[in-house]
Amino acid sequence: MSEQVDVVVVGLGPGGEDLAGRLAEAGLHVVAIDAELVGGECPYWGCVPSKMMIRAANLLAEGRRIEGMAGTATVSADWAPVAERIRKEATDTWDDTAAVDRLTGRGARFVRGWAHLDGPGRVVVDGQAFEATKAVVLNTGARSWAPPIPGLEGTPYWTNRQAIEAEEVPGSMIILGGGPIGLELGQVFSRFGAEVTVVEVADRLLAVEDPESSELIQSVFTEEGIEVITGASISRVAYGDGFTVSIEGRPDVSAPVLLVATGRRPDLEGLRVGTVGLDEGARSIPVDEHLRAGPGLWAIGDVTGIGPFTHVSMYQSAIAVSDILGQAHATADYRALPRVTFTDPEIGSVGLGEHEARERGIRVGVGTTQVPSTTRGWIHKAGNAGFIKLIADLDNEVLVGATSAGPIGGEVLGLLTLAIHARVPLSSLRSMIYAYPTFHRGVEAALADISD
Ligand SMILES: Cc1cc2nc3c(=O)[nH]c(=O)nc-3n(C[C@H](O)[C@H](O)[C@H](O)COP(=O)(O)OP(=O)(O)OC[C@H]3O[C@@H](n4cnc5c(N)ncnc54)[C@H](O)[C@@H]3O)c2cc1C
Repeated sequence: MSEQVDVVVVGLGPGGEDLAGRLAEAGLHVVAIDAELVGGECPYWGCVPSKMMIRAANLLAEGRRIEGMAGTATVSADWAPVAERIRKEATDTWDDTAAVDRLTGRGARFVRGWAHLDGPGRVVVDGQAFEATKAVVLNTGARSWAPPIPGLEGTPYWTNRQAIEAEEVPGSMIILGGGPIGLELGQVFSRFGAEVTVVEVADRLLAVEDPESSELIQSVFTEEGIEVITGASISRVAYGDGFTVSIEGRPDVSAPVLLVATGRRPDLEGLRVGTVGLDEGARSIPVDEHLRAGPGLWAIGDVTGIGPFTHVSMYQSAIAVSDILGQAHATADYRALPRVTFTDPEIGSVGLGEHEARERGIRVGVGTTQVPSTTRGWIHKAGNAGFIKLIADLDNEVLVGATSAGPIGGEVLGLLTLAIHARVPLSSLRSMIYAYPTFHRGVEAALADISD
């Protein structure tokens, strides 16, 4: 026997929670299911606690920059307030009571448990079947994925979850993966005293970004004493008295903690997407511009493979809500999708990278400013590494991509995101007034530098 409802939402990450609440407020009978915590990875093991860690680590870094600029300071790091803040302020000791109350307060019915699809419109959770007459929405996210390195499986390596829950800073740690998560957490633990080695298989860190970003972050990490190994061919991992990672052509690296940050993948098999005709072996669920994944089926968030970010999940939620409610036909547009790696310097980018733009046959113009050579960067001095790089479509006289790396690179990115989103002509960008001496004034200099 199945129970008929209007909508079933499986997985309540940031987008799913938002969507379930909005549809319930619109008067639909919504069943919202999550096996773990309402709100998903972001508030409990992702964005929020990691940014609290970063805030603390950056305070330490600023303290260490006092020397030579403002006197002397002795900085002694203490992890206890960070761990306590994550427990008390961010996660309520990983308790989602407040989030569940918020959701049910908006009118949705919450069911906790692992759910799976059981054919079109049908969802089963712990033997209870629901039949959705209007929509099934999948917001099941992705889980930390470990590569098949001999010896790794079954060892007590850390994922982002153990890193966020850490009560102490290890003396040393190896991080597999030089993407945003590995780098953000690696810099945090290093600034709190851990000896950190980052091991990346690709030939550069942040391999999805333009090479200038990789060079910048590698040089900052090396200067801070973080060992970076790129182009690593890892032959095995051994676990005994700590971890040992063997890399071809190099001495072994050992540490008591190994953090695996090699990507995140959805579990489409567990979700039994095959019962609705989707490929269970795929890396994501394909969706159209309305976030439709099939008749009566929508997917939002990391599971769509479009961009593993909370802002994408929330953006997609709004579009799926209006589609399900049959309201104005908003369609997803990812031209101006921003992303920020919250290292110090922050590396923000939006739109197309230079290589991608050229591959698309765009007549590309590139303009760059180095942050230290701007007035504000020069004034800032210690910790001023960064650059602004603009990718222009010279035929259409608009920006199609940008990178903003620097002390507040993610904030400066806002201006560039707007320029790409609204297709602001280069002539308008060149004729506006940039406050002196801001970091974003570097955009004006980069615009002046654009050439093919
Ligand atoms: C360390 C770290 C730092 C990050 N920092 C940032 C950042 O600064 N900015 C940013 O934008 N993004 C960041 N992210 C990414 C961000 O957390 C995700 O993009 C965000 O959570 C959106 O994910 P989602 O909506 O797809 O769902 P998720 O948050 O992944 O939630 C999915 C939910 O579905 C549930 N679920 C899964 N399968 C089932 C099932 N079969 N039945 C029932 N429930 C199920 C899970 O329990 C989970 O609660 C970070 C991620 C990590 C790990």
